[in-house]
Amino acid sequence: MEKKKIAQEVLKRLKRTYQKTGPFVEWSTPLELLVGTILSAQCTDVRVNMVTKKLFQKYTTSADYAKARITTLEKEIYSTGFYHTKAKALKESGKIIEKNFNGEVPHTLEELLTLRGVSIKTAYLVLSKAYGKNVGLAVDTHVFRLCKRIGLSSAKTPEKMSEEMSKIVVARHYVEWNEYLITHGRAICGRVPKCDTCVLNDICKKNI
Ligand code: SF4
Repeated sequence: MEKKKIAQEVLKRLKRTYQKTGPFVEWSTPLELLVGTILSAQCTDVRVNMVTKKLFQKYTTSADYAKARITTLEKEIYSTGFYHTKAKALKESGKIIEKNFNGEVPHTLEELLTLRGVSIKTAYLVLSKAYGKNVGLAVDTHVFRLCKRIGLSSAKTPEKMSEEMSKIVVARHYVEWNEYLITHGRAICGRVPKCDTCVLNDICKKNI
């Protein structure tokens, strides 16, 4: 089967298997999505959601982050880990959004990458989820591992894999691909894959 067909089949089976994906970062505005995604680096989405529940009540605009006392912000996000770096990223991004983008989270890849703590993966997620712009496929640890194991990509870096997979997966399915593979990675195909119980067993190359 060619890779595009395998990718379609993978998504079809995972959608049938899982009633719903997640948990993922919870958000209701592009700014909340951006902040939650920055905080999710090296942290579980469940933990991020616990922290942002309070945080989002206090900080509702980019100006709020820009004006925040860094030590206060650090305390508020402490449990997500790497709190020095993340607090700095939130404050600096708040300032840049205020100064360069009239208080609105930018809509393009190039502009998003001018913010602090925003990787290309974060930018792709924000563009797809907040603005419906599927310019690239976000590759996290689970997506990276699974695409390799299934045999869809042998890229050595997430960036290279994103480039490859963006051509294999249909653009309108980028978010679903990301979320279903993460869900499957958490449930079945983690560090120790449970191939015996996997719905992809017969089409997976098992490059483990
Ligand atoms: S068959 Fe095994 S390696 Fe392939 S996706 Fe399933 S659990 Fe992962």
